[in-house]
Amino acid sequence: MRLVLLGPPGSGKGTQAARLKVELGVPHISTGDMLRAAVAAGTPTGLKAKAVMDAGKLVSDDILLAMLEERLSQDDVKNGFILDGYPRNLAQADALDHLLAKIGQPLDAVVKLDVPNAVIIGRCEIRFAAEHRKDDDPVVVRDRLKVYAEQTAPVADFFERRGKLQVVDGVGELDEVTGRVKRALDAGSAAANG
Ligand code: AMP
Repeated sequence: MRLVLLGPPGSGKGTQAARLKVELGVPHISTGDMLRAAVAAGTPTGLKAKAVMDAGKLVSDDILLAMLEERLSQDDVKNGFILDGYPRNLAQADALDHLLAKIGQPLDAVVKLDVPNAVIIGRCEIRFAAEHRKDDDPVVVRDRLKVYAEQTAPVADFFERRGKLQVVDGVGELDEVTGRVKRALDAGSAAANG
């Protein structure tokens, strides 16, 4: 299963991906986690990305594509992956399309978690208090939501036009949301198999 999880910051992509990877038996690839690891390790990529991430803006497409290309060449993605946090703009969606076509592994599904902004803001406040991620500061969250609306929301349309997008209500208990995503994936693969 090659799956992209879409949704605004704080929509639960990371939490749901961590649960789904167990069910689906494929790795969870979070570009945000990879970048945070690079920042923590002080790599050249991390040094370039840190200020941009702290401001809630998007790190450059070149850096992301190089990172993703490297990750998708590893052995553990042979049976698929759950991609969380990529693509975040149309150029990245295009790049992903090309990259997957090149390795002969097209996406099976794209699931968008739908969560209203008021809920997102509340969730990020809670995460900010617990984890102190600079980009969960309420001021930065507003900027991230703006970046999402302007740059990432069109990515959902991109996949919708290709008949790949499924929208799932992301508000509710964790189990409930996981169940909705699984039902969407099952319905999608039943439709694909005719
Ligand atoms: P996330 O944990 O997915 O919310 O990502 C945290 C931050 O990492 C984002 O606010 C961006 O600064 C950066 N980031 C993660 N994924 C991408 C991406 N695909 N393109 C550009 N920047 C990204």
